[in-house]
Amino acid sequence: MRNQGIGSWPARRNRRTPRRTAVLHEGRAYDYATLHDRSTRLAHVLRGASVGRGDRVAFLGPNHPAFLETLFASGILGAVFVPLNNRLTVAELAFQLHDSGSRLLVHARQPDGKAAELAAAAGLDAHDALLSAEGGGPGRRYEEVLAASSAEPIDEEVGHDDVCLIMYTSGTTGRAKGAVLTHGNIVWNSLNVVVDTDLAGDEVALVAAPLFHTGALNMSCLPTLLKGGTVLLESAFDPERALRLIGLHGVTALFGVPTMYDAMAAAPGWRDADLTGLRLLLCGGAPVPIRTARAYLERGLAFVQGYGMTEASPGALVLDRADSARKAGTAGVPHFFTDVTVLRPDGTETAPGEKGEVVVAGPNVTPGYWRLPGATADAFLDGGRFRSGDVATVDADGYVTLVDRLKDMIISGGENIYPAEVEDALLRHPDVAEAAVIGVPDARWGEVGRAVVVLRPGTAPTPEELLAHLGGLLARYKLPRSVVLAPELPRNATGKLLKGPLREHYGSDPAH
Ligand code: AMP
Repeated sequence: MRNQGIGSWPARRNRRTPRRTAVLHEGRAYDYATLHDRSTRLAHVLRGASVGRGDRVAFLGPNHPAFLETLFASGILGAVFVPLNNRLTVAELAFQLHDSGSRLLVHARQPDGKAAELAAAAGLDAHDALLSAEGGGPGRRYEEVLAASSAEPIDEEVGHDDVCLIMYTSGTTGRAKGAVLTHGNIVWNSLNVVVDTDLAGDEVALVAAPLFHTGALNMSCLPTLLKGGTVLLESAFDPERALRLIGLHGVTALFGVPTMYDAMAAAPGWRDADLTGLRLLLCGGAPVPIRTARAYLERGLAFVQGYGMTEASPGALVLDRADSARKAGTAGVPHFFTDVTVLRPDGTETAPGEKGEVVVAGPNVTPGYWRLPGATADAFLDGGRFRSGDVATVDADGYVTLVDRLKDMIISGGENIYPAEVEDALLRHPDVAEAAVIGVPDARWGEVGRAVVVLRPGTAPTPEELLAHLGGLLARYKLPRSVVLAPELPRNATGKLLKGPLREHYGSDPAH
């Protein structure tokens, strides 16, 4: 085959295991032959809409088989897949469609009017540039065009250096940046997973975390499909239902952020759930709280914990099950094909126990941000080494512990919130003179945002009014859980906001 990329995986799997179940979704089973057939048909449809090598194709929806088919169909043509975060507002999504220059949008299960509004905002023609996979809305009907399409195999030349997808991550500047991931990035990340986790060909992986983040897509879903296992794809995460599905389908592998694992252990069905088939519990995206690790250990289950970021596709560090007690609290050691160093500001490596910035290099690391040469240059040291913005220490055995962040970011229930973006939105309210957003600890979500706001003299909007203003601009998960009014914000002599003193003053008291 000339296609060495992800787009060739359904065809390669169809050669080896056509009858094995690739995807189970809401009671429907798709075997690898079907996945191959449907992805090929969709590739013909995309080609008919003038999508070719390098063109961008976006997907908006919850987890759905059409997400995977759009990814593979784009890969078959050498086109670039743009998965959109289903939780974002129309304005946020329109920016990403426009920035990526997506010429076609596949959407599924959108609330009334959202896809039409988005198409209008992004200047996409509702007939030619939209496909509706399920749930109505504008565009041609996905199932109809697939049924009418050719199923003739396509084998384009696609290499590891070709771009596979653009995944948007918010930035410290408040503007979303598209991290470019090549086919090679994702292949090597998948190999890291296969080498470091013993993921097997008979895996049944429950994927309930959103595929529009690299964790669920690249640490769980794609490696399972690479091996010929079964992905049990859930459109939304419900802890009680997840526990039932594990017993019902003999689920062997799970991927989630700590909040999801926590919610399952707290659900009424936890005690009686049949977890006997489970053997691989992947948890990443945020530190695993000790109580979560303990709840699963009591059921004989130890986590494989991961640390990573979108820009590393995302796996950088992994803490094996066998080390989970001995090295509890650490994020482990680098993945097999990846190098992680912790550096001083002068670029030299830290001594054991000394704090420094985590820097990641390897074939799974992005070549850069989409059309942002400045941001790309800022993010890299020489040799393609990516600066994570995370602070860590390394122990004498090489185990890395995350201790702080250089970047201003809040992790809430597995979603990253960049305060700069929320502060920008707050400042767009006419009564707000100054605004700062900090993270405060939260038992359920890990952290939640808190806005500290200085009002213009003579104005008196309520915190509810300010939150309602934000609600029109930002995805719900980004909204602060509390708003505190302050007479002024702490700043240094040059006017720079001092987040440290702000956190000390406003960060701990839950009464705020
Ligand atoms: P994202 O690009 O959305 O995957 O977010 C990446 C960021 O999440 C990292 O740079 C870290 O700040 C944070 N992160 C990911 N995994 C962990 C972990 N296991 N422990 C602590 N922070 C993490």
